[in-house]
Amino acid sequence: MTPEQIERYKRHLLVKEIGGSGQKKLLNSHVMIVGAGALGGMAALSLAAAGVGRLTIYDDDRVDLSNLQRQIQFTADDVDDTKVGALFRRLSRLNHDVDVNPVQERWTPEAGFGDADLVLDGSDNFPTRFALNAATREANLALVSGAVAGWTGQTLVVNKPGDAYCPCYQCFVPSEPPQAGDCNDLGVLGAITQLIASQMSLAAIRLLLTPDADIFGRLMVFEGLSMQSRVVRLPQDPDCPICKS
Ligand SMILES: [Zn+2]
Repeated sequence: MTPEQIERYKRHLLVKEIGGSGQKKLLNSHVMIVGAGALGGMAALSLAAAGVGRLTIYDDDRVDLSNLQRQIQFTADDVDDTKVGALFRRLSRLNHDVDVNPVQERWTPEAGFGDADLVLDGSDNFPTRFALNAATREANLALVSGAVAGWTGQTLVVNKPGDAYCPCYQCFVPSEPPQAGDCNDLGVLGAITQLIASQMSLAAIRLLLTPDADIFGRLMVFEGLSMQSRVVRLPQDPDCPICKS
């Protein structure tokens, strides 16, 4: 590492589980992020600051004034610009160590994952979540998933590479819930999206440092009204169409 990097990442270097070798791992890592909005965009900001060396970010949306209530990676000057374009500028100003690849498209399975080490799902719809789950399972890549609505948020890490018995996202959500809505019609607090984005970033860093860390198959739910959190261990669904073939 350069003297500037040693200064920049000093607080990481002091953490026992990171240190110089861990920081070098982060600098040599590649994370794919699907969605540049409240979850993916915020997680990208956190991962770029942490010195994750490469970020590929998919999003086909533009910054709307109503996004600024929670998507604090954007400013009022970004309204109407593409989300990936505005995020690219923001991340470039934050950390030159990070190679950011913005893709102004909706991710599809045909896009694949390149040589990404793991994938963050910050999408806002079930078809994309299901497709990402199936494709990461197939590609033997860990998937960090986040979801928010109202005062509640949840984080889930699935698809442990090489572990056929690890549950997948669809063990947890077998099909699209009938009353499924997103924050466009349910509303959401920015503080909840930032909390969950931060948990997703933390899970990614944990796995980049230790790929087999014991954080898979656990649903973390935070309920903001009561300020309570709970953790639920998810078993693999014996009838899951994705991971039990
Ligand atoms: Zn499954």
